[in-house]
Amino acid sequence: MFTKILIANRGEIACRIIKTARALNIATVAVFSEADRDALHVQMADQSVYIGPAPANESYLVIDKLIQAALDTGAEAIHPGYGFLSENAEFCRQCSDNNLVFIGPPAAAIGAMGSKSAAKTIMAEAGVPLVPGYHGNDQNPETLKRAANAMGYPVLLKAAAGGGGKGMRAVYAEDEFDAALDAAKREARNSFSDDIMLVEKYLLKPRHIEIQVFCDRQKNAVYLFERDCSIQRRHQKVIEEAPAPGITAGLRQQMGEAAIKAAQAINYEGAGTVEFLLDTQGEFFFMEMNTRLQVEHPVTEMISGQDLVQWQLLVAAGEALPCTQDQLKINGHAFEARIYAEDPDHDFLPATGRLSLLKPPTETTHIRVDSGVVEGDSVSIYYDPMIAKLVVWDSDRERALRRLTQALAQYRIGGIKTNIGFLYNLATIQAFDTADLDTGYIEQHWDEIFRRRDQDIRYATPLAAAAVQHLRDQQSVAQAKVSSDPNSPWHASDNWGLPNASCTIQIQETEVTTEAEAAVNLPACGTSLADSTVVADDAGFDLFTPQGFFRCREVKPDFGLDDEFTGGSLTAPMNGTVVALLSEPGVTVAKGDTLLVMEAMKMEHCIVAPTDGQATEFYFQPGDLVDGGTVLLAFEAIE
Ligand code: ADP
Repeated sequence: MFTKILIANRGEIACRIIKTARALNIATVAVFSEADRDALHVQMADQSVYIGPAPANESYLVIDKLIQAALDTGAEAIHPGYGFLSENAEFCRQCSDNNLVFIGPPAAAIGAMGSKSAAKTIMAEAGVPLVPGYHGNDQNPETLKRAANAMGYPVLLKAAAGGGGKGMRAVYAEDEFDAALDAAKREARNSFSDDIMLVEKYLLKPRHIEIQVFCDRQKNAVYLFERDCSIQRRHQKVIEEAPAPGITAGLRQQMGEAAIKAAQAINYEGAGTVEFLLDTQGEFFFMEMNTRLQVEHPVTEMISGQDLVQWQLLVAAGEALPCTQDQLKINGHAFEARIYAEDPDHDFLPATGRLSLLKPPTETTHIRVDSGVVEGDSVSIYYDPMIAKLVVWDSDRERALRRLTQALAQYRIGGIKTNIGFLYNLATIQAFDTADLDTGYIEQHWDEIFRRRDQDIRYATPLAAAAVQHLRDQQSVAQAKVSSDPNSPWHASDNWGLPNASCTIQIQETEVTTEAEAAVNLPACGTSLADSTVVADDAGFDLFTPQGFFRCREVKPDFGLDDEFTGGSLTAPMNGTVVALLSEPGVTVAKGDTLLVMEAMKMEHCIVAPTDGQATEFYFQPGDLVDGGTVLLAFEAIE
């Protein structure tokens, strides 16, 4: 076994790897950029090396710097984590050239799966069932369109080099094809410097089921069951679970064996994930193979009782897998929710800023929190805005789900917008309870998740009124004696003075007055505050109720929703790059038409016409960097 490894990554995954290395008595070397000088992974590691400025392409993505850091510190191996260089065959090769062990598969296996098109060709030869589609070399737009027309709409355009849901566009009719292809290629070029596309039949209501595989140099191969990652937004995973609900032992074995066949077809070693789509008829199709540890690996660890990072280290050190297939058993059920700094109410724009309050639920045998930040740290624009992964386990799905929703309600984060309320809502609706899952779940249940229906507001009003009363009472106690309870909301809400028991509260987007009698209606809504959790912060409070999450803000006299848009300027919602102007000054557009496309954190954001009208001037050109809040264009409404 190694005595020292370098971790070519940051954040939660770097911390996660350090934990296992420490348990195995392996010394660790962290690397850090300018933005991460004081980061948790640096503090946890035995040693650390500065590798450059904050932007990843000047630090975490610079192969030479990472190799040099490993050589300088005497590390014998490099763990790439996920993201960054984890699926970069060149990095893997350079490690070997420098006598460093790359903790992952051989370069050839990474290369074989690096392109979704090439991977599909290999898998077809190995007899693994594929999502029907075109993955050929002829990239002429007409050829792609003909392939789409032939297979029938809807189709999905995918970047061959894609990942993280980027460079992907669903197309529902032929006349949308050209624009969708342009957009997908543009996003692919920006993200991967490669715009080769494949076209797939867009399956309706599929589930995303992936199999965790492990292979060693002795040619042993096992599968550690499946994960259901169907809960997605914009093709990115939001909540994952294991095992997949409703999967029979027979189907599990079939998919597991197909996954092993896929891995063996490319002489795989180490941890890998074979992703399949499962259709409503119970047929499964290969999508791609990820040649690294996945973000969601903890759910597999929870149900299998195995430490996958430990397995990776064993295999990389040349040892055999610690278990045979027969020795692996599923125990209980696990969920993972990805806690992000983002604003669900504004198209999930990534949020940045300081985590002035960060109190995750207490870790137990049922609750695990993988995080790379602590209270006081900042979420910067440079990296993925994931704050933590909340992982829960219990003996069955129903119990595990209860753990998940309770833990979400206990999670306290202040100073930055997060998706916790959104996660809570999507995990508390009935379809989740009954495991009625497919990749369209979030879109399908959008209204329910966002709780904009009148009956919900009627339900929340008396609770909000009771919460106001409750917070007032607590505040008087807190003023007398600062609570020592770390879970007390008063740690976060010193600045939020509630003026009156009767005040106007904005619940989601609806304003209600918390008249004294509203509290009297509490029994009528069939619940009490005792069933809910109230979390206050500077601006108001969050209500986690059995019916879902409600964000409540006090409406100050000068606080109001934006007036009807009559003209003026449109601003950048965040720091980013202008990628395309889709209108011209003086051209009439309809409300909702896209005027300008920005890119931030490698995702495109559309700036749309707030009403019918015209842009009168664009202040930036494609390629220009803009700060959040910058005026992008002037817009005139049509009377
Ligand atoms: P990425 O590598 O960018 O994550 P994937 O190929 O893994 O892209 O696909 C991501 C998600 O997109 C899948 O989990 C699934 O929800 C959806 N998806 C991909 N291909 C198809 C398809 N052919 N039909 C329907 N949905 C698809």
